[in-house]
Amino acid sequence: MANGQLLTTTEEPRQEADESGDVVLELEDVAKEFGNEAVISELSLSVHDGEILTLLGPSGCGKTTTLRLIAGLEEPTHGRIRLQDDDVAGNGRFVPPEERGVGVVFQEFALFPHLTARENVAFGLDDWPAEKRDARVEELLELVGLESHGDHYPDELSGGQQQRIALARSLAPEPEMLLLDEPFSNLDVDLRVEMREEVRRIIKEAGVTAISVTHDQEEALSISDRVAVMHDGNIEQVDVPERVFQDPKSRFVAGFLGHASFLSGSVEGDSVRTAVGRVLRDDVNGLAQQYDGSEIDLLLRPDDVTAYPADEREANGRVVYRRYLGPTVLYRVELDSGETIECMHNHSDRIDLDERVAVRVTADHELAWFPADHRDVGDAPDGADAGGPTDTAVD
Ligand code: ATP
Repeated sequence: MANGQLLTTTEEPRQEADESGDVVLELEDVAKEFGNEAVISELSLSVHDGEILTLLGPSGCGKTTTLRLIAGLEEPTHGRIRLQDDDVAGNGRFVPPEERGVGVVFQEFALFPHLTARENVAFGLDDWPAEKRDARVEELLELVGLESHGDHYPDELSGGQQQRIALARSLAPEPEMLLLDEPFSNLDVDLRVEMREEVRRIIKEAGVTAISVTHDQEEALSISDRVAVMHDGNIEQVDVPERVFQDPKSRFVAGFLGHASFLSGSVEGDSVRTAVGRVLRDDVNGLAQQYDGSEIDLLLRPDDVTAYPADEREANGRVVYRRYLGPTVLYRVELDSGETIECMHNHSDRIDLDERVAVRVTADHELAWFPADHRDVGDAPDGADAGGPTDTAVD
């Protein structure tokens, strides 16, 4: 079966965005209002040929609306959408969904229950010559690893198999672009992880450009070439998964992409003084000269810090929360400074609740940071102007 090919585990980490492909989709200052409610505002985005881009963000931030605007299921209030050099919305034009060459995979798969898997895949190929259509259907059944299930009805297929058939059906008419709306939300947790890798393989083998929507950051990071993090109807950052995780451009992005602790520090010469000791300035990403003497907040992920049981001379905090996660344990430590920091340890490490600990920064990569004077703006749930190194730092 094709799902033995775990592409995402053998691929090189995606450090750089592959923007070599032509731009096939462009949204320019797109806005969408429902009545008086502005749901999308001045959203701009370019998507390149053959890439998988995921729109990631919390519930209600406008992901599905953006997908529907691209599909032609909604019309923008302002702005322009170009697909393959054609204006499909804006400038007085609106191309309906069926003429956009876009395939959509819906959350609930939407297979026809009275048609077999083979008939479902063939559904959009009515106007193809029979021989060509049959060959295309068999090709797709093979691509999704279900060549022996063509005669099965949807209720005779597992959730993962139904998803493969839904994908095959959307890919059959050779769309320019595939749109996937929360494609894994109907699958149980184990299957979700397996299908992420399988869906990525199928999309890459089909060579189609794809845009997916999710609120699950792990899913976005694992299937995408680039992730666009959305907040309040706009995109806060779009970049390769590694960069949005390690070098977030706003506190919102930092916090949405996993556990994030912000540790305050003063920039003093070649180091940053914090409540858990000094961090070398060289270990902080792009901390320019102009920040000498400034207060900043370092972004620490739970695996960037370690807590050691310690006596009173060395201790700088106390464990206030412990969550066993199987392979790892997440500790929350309240520092003597009043700040709170989270640490991820191996499951075999045992630190008790309320134990005094010495927390140390043990990251083996440069840390991201945010100017402290942007703290209120960046931390506010609706902070559109969240601060970040690239907002203000000068190289
Ligand atoms: P979720 O992850 O919960 O699906 P989302 O990020 O996909 O959220 P959207 O479905 O795009 O969010 O909705 C964004 C906002 O627009 C929400 O406040 C929603 O209530 C509103 N909205 C969406 N469609 C309509 C509509 N047809 N009429 C009025 N309001 C709408």
